[in-house]
Amino acid sequence: MAKPADAQTSKSGKTDKTYLWCNSCRRSFSHADAPDARCPICGQPTREMGRLAAIARGIMANELVASDLQTKHRQLIRLIWTRNGMGERYFRALAPNLPYNRFEARVTELLMRGAEEGWVRFVFPPAPSGDESAYRLEFDDDERFVRELEALFAASIEPAP
Ligand SMILES: [Zn+2]
Repeated sequence: MAKPADAQTSKSGKTDKTYLWCNSCRRSFSHADAPDARCPICGQPTREMGRLAAIARGIMANELVASDLQTKHRQLIRLIWTRNGMGERYFRALAPNLPYNRFEARVTELLMRGAEEGWVRFVFPPAPSGDESAYRLEFDDDERFVRELEALFAASIEPAP
């Protein structure tokens, strides 16, 4: 254990300043945690990189994972409220002055806010299910939803002639 590590460190200080990045685990390790430059978690060879680069990569990896989950969650919510032509029906009923895809995005945002505020509930089965009715949207307060929809599109709904 005496020879290479000590020699290297004293020569350039390099091993103090670099980290080992595992591309499959998306995280970095110190040289001490990965003695043979292999990831202590998955055993893959790691790549040496500067401390800052390793930190930046770690942050990016976390953000990518988080935003992917968030995107999927949003897609699920959109699929639930628009299925069976419901999105199109709301769109025709409200006849807002904007394209359908923007309408869909805005209603999805509204429903996500509703879920956060507690007047909308998204119900999911405990595990993925072929029974579509297991995925549903419930309103604690229908009136609230109508009011919020009206407020959201007040500016873009043509007044009745
Ligand atoms: Zn790994």
